[in-house]
Amino acid sequence: MSRLSRNPEERNLNGKVTEVHKAHRSILTDAFGRRHTYLRLSITERCNLRCTYCMPEEGIPLAEKDKLLSLEEIEALSRLFVELGVRKIRVTGGEPLVRAGVGELCGRLRQIEGLHTLALSTNGVLLAQKARGLRDNGVSHINVSLDTLSVDTFRTLARRDRLKDVLNGIYEAKRMGFESLKINVVVMRGVNEHELPDFVRLADALEVHVRFIEFMPFLGNKWSPELVVPLGEMKRIISSQFTLHPRETDPASDGPATEFSIQGGRGVIGFISSLSEPSCSGCSRLRLTADGMFRVCLFAQDAVDLKSLVRSGVSRLEMEKAIGEAVSGKWWRRPELNELVGKGDRAMVAIGG
Ligand code: SAM
Ligand code: SF4
Repeated sequence: MSRLSRNPEERNLNGKVTEVHKAHRSILTDAFGRRHTYLRLSITERCNLRCTYCMPEEGIPLAEKDKLLSLEEIEALSRLFVELGVRKIRVTGGEPLVRAGVGELCGRLRQIEGLHTLALSTNGVLLAQKARGLRDNGVSHINVSLDTLSVDTFRTLARRDRLKDVLNGIYEAKRMGFESLKINVVVMRGVNEHELPDFVRLADALEVHVRFIEFMPFLGNKWSPELVVPLGEMKRIISSQFTLHPRETDPASDGPATEFSIQGGRGVIGFISSLSEPSCSGCSRLRLTADGMFRVCLFAQDAVDLKSLVRSGVSRLEMEKAIGEAVSGKWWRRPELNELVGKGDRAMVAIGG
């Protein structure tokens, strides 16, 4: 049993939640009553693309291997979070599919009692090769980032020539029949906003969800306000060709997207407007980075070093105290935009989205 496991008597023996489990769940409830049931778990800072909106062209300084959580440490921390009330884990990165052992890790996470949903976000480059293994290891929800359907724009945006691989990855994931398959599009003015109607057609053709994301400022991503296409404008571009019908948001998505169906179509369209309409009041997300830093908000300026705590052998109680203090100190709403620009301590690639 790992150092982080609780006393076996406190475990959920008959599939029922014990009083101890119920009490511990409050550790993940913040001062405003928000329960945090969703953990975004970054397993690597490496990536096989160099998306302009995510990282600088030269990449980021990578942590030495021993500064990253091992797969065993990731599993132990995930188990702890599930015991505290997390019900959904999304494996992310960097690009999670470049980390050796990702399939095996997913298989181990899937075994954690109490975890309802195991999801993964990928750029899709290696997905054609890995989709079957992910599905067989219990991943049920896949999000693929794809920002353009043009070979040239892809080369400029991702600074690599891999559009064909990403499309093949999406087709293979579709064939594998994941419970959920979504395509995430970061929309940037003058780069890809004219492609929104093409993505609506893709959502229809593949019967998948496509989500359009406002471009957010992070360290090293050359963000500027002129590049942002706000929610209202994205909707106007799409509405000029399609009729949008509001849709009840998928309760399993735990996300900030507002969703629409298209009249006469089979796909679903979503918008993530973290800049123009932040959805902080319903936030249920926590983040653990590949180097073991625990962040209670995507835009947080500080983090708790859980890796050092695990490695120094602190008690389970001390781990819970550190996590609980961070969660209870979570702000109600992210700072205003002018306070975010140029302030972040990390590139997005080292946070995990
Ligand atoms: N490599 C994987 C991928 O691309 O999906 C997982 C990591 S990536 C950091 C996670 C998500 O963050 C992706 O959907 C990506 O589009 C999004 N993202 C990265 N930088 C962003 C930014 N500046 N604004 C909005 N979304 C961003
Ligand atoms: Fe890599 Fe994903 Fe960032 Fe693109 S968005 S650079 S694929 S981590």
